[in-house]
Amino acid sequence: MFRNEEIKTINVIVKCDGCGSEKKIGENLGWDARMNACLAHGYTFKVEGGAFKNYCGLCK
Ligand SMILES: [Zn+2]
Repeated sequence: MFRNEEIKTINVIVKCDGCGSEKKIGENLGWDARMNACLAHGYTFKVEGGAFKNYCGLCK
C-alpha cells in the first residue's frame, strides 16, 4: 500500500511599496504571522488614502 502526500509550500513574499524590492519572509504564514514576520524583517505599515501599504527599512 502506498499513500501520496502532497506538501505545498507557499512562499510569503513582502514587496516594498516604496522601492519595489521583494523579500521572502517565510512559508505558509497566516495573516497574523505575516504581519509579525514583516515587522521582524524591519518592514513598517502605513495606510495611505485608504490603501494598505508596507515599506522596507530603507523607505519608511
Ligand atoms: Zn523599500
